[in-house]
Amino acid sequence: MVRLKSSKQIEKMKDAGKIVAAVFVAMREAIRPGISTWDLDQIAYRIITEHGAVPSFLNYGTPPFPASICASVNDHVVHGIPKKDAILNEGDIVSVDVGAKLQGFHADAARTFLVGEVSEDVKALVRTTEECFWKGFEKAVPGNRIGDISSAIQKHAESFGYGVVRELVGHGIGEDLHEEPDVPNYGSAGRGMRIQPGMVLAVEPMINLGTASVVMLQDRWTIATADGRCSAHYENTFAITEDGPIITTLES
Ligand code: MG
Repeated sequence: MVRLKSSKQIEKMKDAGKIVAAVFVAMREAIRPGISTWDLDQIAYRIITEHGAVPSFLNYGTPPFPASICASVNDHVVHGIPKKDAILNEGDIVSVDVGAKLQGFHADAARTFLVGEVSEDVKALVRTTEECFWKGFEKAVPGNRIGDISSAIQKHAESFGYGVVRELVGHGIGEDLHEEPDVPNYGSAGRGMRIQPGMVLAVEPMINLGTASVVMLQDRWTIATADGRCSAHYENTFAITEDGPIITTLES
């Protein structure tokens, strides 16, 4: 069942989203060759907790996720576990997924950052993945259907020959990190649940340079591309309202 949010609840979700955005601002400053994903996790933990929030991902799931952020480098798609020996190198990309819970409500977003100078084909992938989010977001209006979002994302990604990950999807969000409805990054326009005011969605294209196929690594969290080529991720949490959409997790 979809849990629609009141305007009061959406206000709380905006507060949680501001903390996630603050983490991205700090990430952009910190990310450079030589820093570890563990260092990035420490920075994020400090910012989230200093604001009185709880990192949504810490201890989430089975086995319990051991960090505050997911940090997924190059061919790692999502759910990378921050590690002291995962040192970022010139030319890498790192996808950072951040969740914060404040006043009982979550915000969830992701960015893919460039480390130093990155090859043109990988830069284009990162840029297009963000564009995919915006293509989907444009369709997230009352009266449309979830499939309109999904289809717009898929079409844009595949027009560049990229692989659209099927195994992981966007989602509703609120008092739980993952609520109904699922928002796949592939699908048919005009299909699926009708979009209505009060829905809060986390839309998150995960787009691969090569094959859409993914594998899970032995740590039982990290998802990687099957062909070892790069993957990018971009996500925001936003609310559908009578007065238009409100994106809660944007850096201002
Ligand atoms: Mg998410």
